Amino acid sequence: MKKFISATAVLLLFIGTFSSCSNSAKTEAAVYQCPMKCEGEKTYDKAGSCAVCGMELEEVKK
Ligand SMILES: [Zn+2]
Repeated sequence: MKKFISATAVLLLFIGTFSSCSNSAKTEAAVYQCPMKCEGEKTYDKAGSCAVCGMELEEVKK
């Protein structure tokens, strides 16, 4: 049983490392910015709405 638990822990660690790697790759690939540039060149790493005007953030490729 102990062997099973450690095998599961290693597997979870591997999955966690892999998914955090692909997440950071995604962040580098695209950023989000208000189409009205309310906050100048400020960009966000997640889609959402502008904190100033509420418009949907647009994906910007660097
Ligand atoms: Zn805005």
